[in-house]
Amino acid sequence: MVSNFDAKLSEYARLLVEVGLNVQPGQTPSIEGNVEYVPLMRRCVSACFDCGARNVVPYFGDDFTTRETFLRADEAVFGEYPSYMKARVDWFLEQKSPRLSFSGSNPELLKDVDPARIQARRRASGPPTKPYFDAMQAGKFQWCVGAHPTVSWAEKVFPDKKGEEALDALWEAVFSVCRITGDGKAVERWREAVSAISRRSRVLNDYNFASLHYTNALGTDLTILLPENHVWAGGSEKSVAGVEFIANIPTEEIFTAPLRNGVDGRVHSSMPLAMDGNLIKDFYFDFKDGRIVDVHAKQGEELLRRAIELDEGARYLGEVALVPYDSPIRNTGILFYNTLFDENASCHLAFGQAYAACVRGGEDMDEEAQKAAGLNRSMTHVDFMVGTRDLSIVGTTHDGREIPVFVDGNFAF
Ligand code: ZN
Ligand code: ZN
Repeated sequence: MVSNFDAKLSEYARLLVEVGLNVQPGQTPSIEGNVEYVPLMRRCVSACFDCGARNVVPYFGDDFTTRETFLRADEAVFGEYPSYMKARVDWFLEQKSPRLSFSGSNPELLKDVDPARIQARRRASGPPTKPYFDAMQAGKFQWCVGAHPTVSWAEKVFPDKKGEEALDALWEAVFSVCRITGDGKAVERWREAVSAISRRSRVLNDYNFASLHYTNALGTDLTILLPENHVWAGGSEKSVAGVEFIANIPTEEIFTAPLRNGVDGRVHSSMPLAMDGNLIKDFYFDFKDGRIVDVHAKQGEELLRRAIELDEGARYLGEVALVPYDSPIRNTGILFYNTLFDENASCHLAFGQAYAACVRGGEDMDEEAQKAAGLNRSMTHVDFMVGTRDLSIVGTTHDGREIPVFVDGNFAF
């Protein structure tokens, strides 16, 4: 039993809707989640109306159906993207609907599914949904991703617990890292945490580093050049209409974009990567002029290769993110097997699409201008963890000064 569960669930819904999404009067948010998330999703629907929503549009998925489909549907299905699905995202884009979604699926949902089917589905859904997701990343509407524990996920995280017991333990962990205690003050606590993240972003922006050099005992020795007009962001962001929102709850990261062709050396993963319902373990990438020229993984190498072969941009980095080793999530000592949590436990990088907002004026640039500014473009964006207890990052300014950014896994300032 999770103590005070109902009060905590309501506090969580309020946090997601009021702070994460920050629903404004007259807006029509969409809420996406699996059928087992109904108690939380219903509270979110109410919280949206409490904020003055004009309407709320929920959408329910189901893990069993997803897996059964991947295993048994006709091969051709994975190369198609139905027109009604496209019409749906186009409508939300037209309305500039705030989007709340949840991460909580079984991390190994698609285990033993033919990787070619997964890749075909990604290729088919990429182009039709691109305008929607591009607009989302450019902040044309507010969005927030929260988490919802499930038994399959919980049993992965706590292998010595079963069923309800594992689920309760995961709820406790999620509430704790989301700063939810049941006292109704999570909203205030988040506002404080976000302002601490903003202070460090300002320090990084003031240095305006030309490059970052990563080293650790795993064998990472990587130099990342940053675009001249890069911007570090973190905590909350503002939509184009000026509404503040938090894209991920929880969030601890401060991030920017690397210079597309400016990454050289080797970087080792520090945690397993859960991707498409599979786990990829102990991998490294070698970079030359920004491009991944070699990849090796002890487990899941084939999937990782396919992921970076999705399109040309998938072979280049799109995100550099800094998270102290002593973060609230890392300090739980739990490996969540979920990017939303694990990426906030560790310094990470992502291959694929860069966020347009990571260079000054990026949201208003067309694709060519973004490329010229050094931003990577791709249909994909996959975060992987590189932070370790001994990670060192040294920044070099444009006038050649070397400034410690990370010492022994934590911020030097
Ligand atoms: Zn990130
Ligand atoms: Zn990312």
